[in-house]
Amino acid sequence: MTTNAPQPSAAIPRSAATGAAIRPRPCPVCGGVDRATVLHLHATPLGDLLCEQSSRAVGLPAYPLDLALCTSCGHLHLPSVVAPEESYSNYHFHTGASPGLAPSMRALAEELWRTIEGRAGELVLDIGSNDGTWLAGFAALGARVQGVEPAAGQAQRAAAAGVTTINDYFSASLAGALKDDGLRPRLITANYVAANIPDVDDFFAGLRTICPAEGRVALLTGYHPDQFAVAMFDYAYHEHVSYFTVRDVHNLCLRHGFRIDWARRVPLKGGSLLAVLAPESAPEAPEHVRRMLQFEDWLGVRTHGYFAALNARLATASERLHGLLTALGPSAAGMRTLPGYGMSHSVTTLVYQFELSEHLAFLVDDNPRRQGLFSPGLGLAVRDPSVLITEQHPSCLVLAWQHDERIIERLRVSGWTGTAIIPLPDPHLIRIQ
Ligand SMILES: [Zn+2]
Repeated sequence: MTTNAPQPSAAIPRSAATGAAIRPRPCPVCGGVDRATVLHLHATPLGDLLCEQSSRAVGLPAYPLDLALCTSCGHLHLPSVVAPEESYSNYHFHTGASPGLAPSMRALAEELWRTIEGRAGELVLDIGSNDGTWLAGFAALGARVQGVEPAAGQAQRAAAAGVTTINDYFSASLAGALKDDGLRPRLITANYVAANIPDVDDFFAGLRTICPAEGRVALLTGYHPDQFAVAMFDYAYHEHVSYFTVRDVHNLCLRHGFRIDWARRVPLKGGSLLAVLAPESAPEAPEHVRRMLQFEDWLGVRTHGYFAALNARLATASERLHGLLTALGPSAAGMRTLPGYGMSHSVTTLVYQFELSEHLAFLVDDNPRRQGLFSPGLGLAVRDPSVLITEQHPSCLVLAWQHDERIIERLRVSGWTGTAIIPLPDPHLIRIQ
């Protein structure tokens, strides 16, 4: 199989430090070029680009992180993207060792298989299949499975576990080759993949090519109307180049000869959208989908007023958080003595946007593969959470606040005593004794 990974154009300026290219692009849903910035976030380096040397981490270039609304169709997106070969070069940090499919994802796989009335021996094709764990869930239901995964290490792990995997980016040309090879998937899945793809037209063209008349496409993607409702703005980072609403998926279906068969909101990652598409044109969406479109209109997710309110909420939260840190005294405020819990893309967005670096001494993270490395841009050491106890730190800023319940429980069980600071949705303190 040939490599279909997008190649950077020679005409595009590249960063001297990393070789990364920034590419401007039209609206990925409608092709429009007029847009307005509605969420201006501070420029950051690629959010999960951990480095082995602090000096290299500090020297990483920062890229703009402005979210814009398309003037024509209202799609929220990054108007310029960092070349994917740079984004994915560090991909092995994105997923840790996965002991098995999380129960919520297993339930989702079973729901999909049941809903499409999948039968034993029918094929499931997963795009962005990682280490094959999701597909193994379908194999357990009796399906044949095939993965497509651009990260070589993950593709090798999947193959070693018995999940046939093509090490490549999914594209229209790859889809054509697979179709020529006789692949007829009953179900095509893409979990948290569509938002990361710069060329959505090519992605949908590929889906349309490979999806037979009886097939279905299941897209699972972050749903910012629910995420932003809990101030989860830090889901925005450079790898997330598109932020899809039901309206966007409906518009893409109209453009590419699909219809939304059914869709629902899913309580994963602070809010996600599951949309199942059928390969046929239909101007009208089903009634339950029309209600979802109406819900989005009521929220005003494509209006400037919606984002003005979000900006105001974030500014208030940042101010209150700095107030809490000041009240805690020198162990937390302004002395760079405060540990931060968590290291991820989202943490980078949060730390830069709320200007928390003046307080942070280092980070801790549960993933051993991150420990011993340095955070992008700020060069903060990532350490084992046990240092909170051995060094007797009196407070800790929970940067991975989306997982605050799990982190607080882990801190309690570890025997640490002190003050945990939760930055969002509303900044507050939790005393652990
Ligand atoms: Zn558009």
